[in-house]
Amino acid sequence: MSAAPLSDAYLARITREFPAFRLREKRTSRTQRLVGAALRVLTLGAMRTYVSGYHTVMFGTLWVSEGWDRMGDLDRYVLLRHERIHLVQARRWGVLPMGLAYLLAPLPLGLAYCRARIEWEAYEETLRALVEVHGLEAARAQKAWLRARFVGPDYGWMWPFPRAIDRWFDGAVACLAREVDARSLPVEETLARFRAHASRQAIA
Ligand SMILES: [Zn+2]
Repeated sequence: MSAAPLSDAYLARITREFPAFRLREKRTSRTQRLVGAALRVLTLGAMRTYVSGYHTVMFGTLWVSEGWDRMGDLDRYVLLRHERIHLVQARRWGVLPMGLAYLLAPLPLGLAYCRARIEWEAYEETLRALVEVHGLEAARAQKAWLRARFVGPDYGWMWPFPRAIDRWFDGAVACLAREVDARSLPVEETLARFRAHASRQAIA
């Protein structure tokens, strides 16, 4: 495996934050292969790459696909940023309630609103990580790909409303653009804005 300083450092950070965290390969797990087979049946063959193409956090373990070995350092880092959010969510809500909501609420397929909201929070982090390592345009370029993930079979057609997904996406990217703008302001200008805001507050 090639050197992966950024993603290795982030893996270490995740392990410090979640000491039980493990990273394992799906193909080595009979359970993961069974989940893959079940998804293939449930989606009538539309989802057939669970083991070979998808990375999944389950019970505090990140199960990586066969593609993990070929991923570059930055791609791994962006992926880990997404997957860490799922660990945070499991800590926030509990593994079982989150798992049930993710799989079943309100429907397992087609209208899986809870899954869509859980994934949306994680994909916002994906976009934020993309902005950090590749810039805002790289995040903006994910619109069609991300829409397809929500409305298509990848996650069981979890929220098949393209315009709603596009609104989410546009809002998230606009938010990230503001974050980039805030970061790139010269220090003097930031201070001037702060003083102007403070004096308006004092007058009001
Ligand atoms: Zn996810």
